[in-house]
Amino acid sequence: MTGADSARLCFHDSLNEFLAPVHRQRPFDYPLTRRASVKDVVEALGVPHPEVGLIRVDGTAVGFAHIVAAGERIDVYPVPTTQAPDGASLLRPPPALPPRFVADTHLGTLARYLRLLGFDTRYRNDHDDPTLAAIAAADGRILLTRDRGLLKRRMVTHACFLRADAPRDQLHEVAVRYPLAAWMDPLSRCARCNGVLRAVDKAAIAHRLAPKTHRYYRRFRECDGCGQLYWAGSHVRHLEALVAEVRDGAGGGAPPGTREIAHVPPH
Ligand SMILES: [Zn+2]
Repeated sequence: MTGADSARLCFHDSLNEFLAPVHRQRPFDYPLTRRASVKDVVEALGVPHPEVGLIRVDGTAVGFAHIVAAGERIDVYPVPTTQAPDGASLLRPPPALPPRFVADTHLGTLARYLRLLGFDTRYRNDHDDPTLAAIAAADGRILLTRDRGLLKRRMVTHACFLRADAPRDQLHEVAVRYPLAAWMDPLSRCARCNGVLRAVDKAAIAHRLAPKTHRYYRRFRECDGCGQLYWAGSHVRHLEALVAEVRDGAGGGAPPGTREIAHVPPH
């Protein structure tokens, strides 16, 4: 039973890793020493609010602004790791579709992968934390980060805390939380600058091609931001593998509406 001036909290599943060891994997009493919202209490215990997908008080779902009262039983669940976006909750509006991202300074390779798959992904290696949070808020982007402090910024609404070190594993983490498989559009965006790729007449860029490329490839795309050229077999060696991983690894096959790769066969 809870004490007269405490609430009983229980964090579920992956949220436990944010907690002090003494609080993990079991309900515990939280003393109420001040008037506090459930969001304040959750973050005071170390759990970033963007990682929370559902809060129930005595069995009823509530929003972040709920003021915690003595005697309440509060269950806190993570954002679901399914194809479903975390929109069906009282905690935040649904993310924009197709999902757009901003990646923190440690996630350059992941940003390149997402761009290759066609996702609008802002990334610079010199963005500071306030800038990252501001970009996420202003553009309705999902913040990708390994920084728990950044996740707790008030203006951050949608964010994904990445647990993995390896970029391919990080991509998988993003793909199981957000519907990448349904929205990917490979080779529509520049991996280098996030610009949009457009088909370009080979004759117009022939002088920029190495002899073998000129000989073996007919269809090209050019970035409208930096002018980088793309063609099958060039910058996209890993693209087929990335597409397959997202399609197969994020929950059992491609959902309806998956767009096929629309790029540049080699002849
Ligand atoms: Zn570019």
